[in-house]
Amino acid sequence: MNCSAPRYIPDLVRAIRSATQKPIVVYPNSGEVYDAARRDWRGSGSGATFAEQAREWYACGARIIGGCCRTTPDHIRALAAWARALPPSSSSASEAK
Ligand SMILES: [Zn+2]
Repeated sequence: MNCSAPRYIPDLVRAIRSATQKPIVVYPNSGEVYDAARRDWRGSGSGATFAEQAREWYACGARIIGGCCRTTPDHIRALAAWARALPPSSSSASEAK
């Protein structure tokens, strides 16, 4: 699943998990929304918040977690710090796109 807002990921992962046991890959965007009138991004999308949300994506069944639009090295660093603390048999990969 690529470039969806973080808030949609848990329900989407659960829906996919109900249909397959294959590894689920999620690369959400930062959750910020583009305001075309102002030509600017709105909302927050910090790396720490992203990594906190990733815990729920993982709990729902996602096993490869990264970031798409508006994610930064800070997002991936926060994800990696969390993922390194997981037990070895359940670890997931994280990378920037
Ligand atoms: Zn994207």
